[in-house]
Amino acid sequence: MNILVINCGSSSLKYQLIDSESEKALAKGLCERIGIDGSAITHQPAGGEKVTMETDMPDHTVAVKLVIEKLTDKEAGVIGSLDEIDAVGHRIVHGGEKFASSVIITEEVLKQVEDCNDLAPLHNPANLVGINSCKEVMPNVPMVGVFDTAFHQTMPKKAYMYGLPYEYYEKHKVRRYGFHGTSHDFVSKRAAEILGKDRKELRIIVCHLGNGASVSAVKYGESIDTSMGLTPLEGLIMGTRSGDIDPAIITFIAEKEKITAEEVLNICNKKSGVLGLSGGLSSDFRDLGQAAEEGNEKAKDTLEAYAYRVGKYIGAYAAAMNGVDVIVFTAGIGENNAQVREMIGQYIGFLGTNIDKEKNKLRGEEVILSDGNSKVATMVIPTNEELAIARETVRLIK
Ligand code: ADP
Repeated sequence: MNILVINCGSSSLKYQLIDSESEKALAKGLCERIGIDGSAITHQPAGGEKVTMETDMPDHTVAVKLVIEKLTDKEAGVIGSLDEIDAVGHRIVHGGEKFASSVIITEEVLKQVEDCNDLAPLHNPANLVGINSCKEVMPNVPMVGVFDTAFHQTMPKKAYMYGLPYEYYEKHKVRRYGFHGTSHDFVSKRAAEILGKDRKELRIIVCHLGNGASVSAVKYGESIDTSMGLTPLEGLIMGTRSGDIDPAIITFIAEKEKITAEEVLNICNKKSGVLGLSGGLSSDFRDLGQAAEEGNEKAKDTLEAYAYRVGKYIGAYAAAMNGVDVIVFTAGIGENNAQVREMIGQYIGFLGTNIDKEKNKLRGEEVILSDGNSKVATMVIPTNEELAIARETVRLIK
């Protein structure tokens, strides 16, 4: 079956057409600046050339039409017509407490997703626009919603409740939800497969280290804790997000800088993390690594703080599961950045990880970093959220 996977942002739309039998992407692409001047689509058929075309995209429906045009194009296309798309899988960021797994999208589901908009005001409305645009262009194609939060719905109350007045949970559903669930699920499953074990026998810590980053504790197949919270701002130091801070800092800075609390929160989301910590140098770890190598002290300190925070979370989750059998690194930094992995390794050796320095130099491939004497299998596993969404879509429409 051909599954179109859609990840829709407020002004962007990422897509992949995946053949569910071979599990390979037939084509992928990105529409950018939708509804803004200078919109463009970049389309790449598997094994073919990546082509970018600037064209007017006033809204997401036009973008979806353009994606279909590209997929069925005589030259750059990979299918003959729309009829060859069997289903669409949509990434949906927030499913609140309503969705503990993926669902076939119905009118009722759309209403329930809308009810979660308050919890993810930047993401959910955009996801809904993407779904509605696809429905307009492909009214007869079944659609599935896959939630970033769903995998973490197994967390016990002690992990998801904040130490706040209980009424805020009752009235406004203020609690930890966690994100990147599709990735944490995919990668922990794959780790068990590689080790030839059942995931239900393993205590796995997954470190998803990309621009957004989160750690999760996957105990015997279920997420029991994760570092992101009500929103994706909590936890690790990220590309531009602060991660854990004392909440009193918000009003403290607001007062000192004569700005609003909302403005400080915006700074915590967009100008903090390694970008902020490095004095504005970069949010990209390649730049930071290079600057550190050239002797830039701020870049060095930033990388230290980043690795230290990841190390602390791994220690915490080892305690949360009363032990750990597997630690996995994934996403842009986790998969590719040997230097950061080595720095994190300095904090977790006591668990018995025995990371082999040579193996740690490998990039972007599945590898067990630990040597034969380790108590904890430490691994790199590239994540593939689009494939995970395609698999879920097939599972549901079958
Ligand atoms: P997103 O959360 O946007 O999907 P990614 O998972 O692509 O982010 O991660 C982006 C981060 O991964 C960037 O900081 C980038 O520097 C880092 N990264 C990607 N490739 C490499 C590489 N080859 N070497 C070092 N870092 C890399």
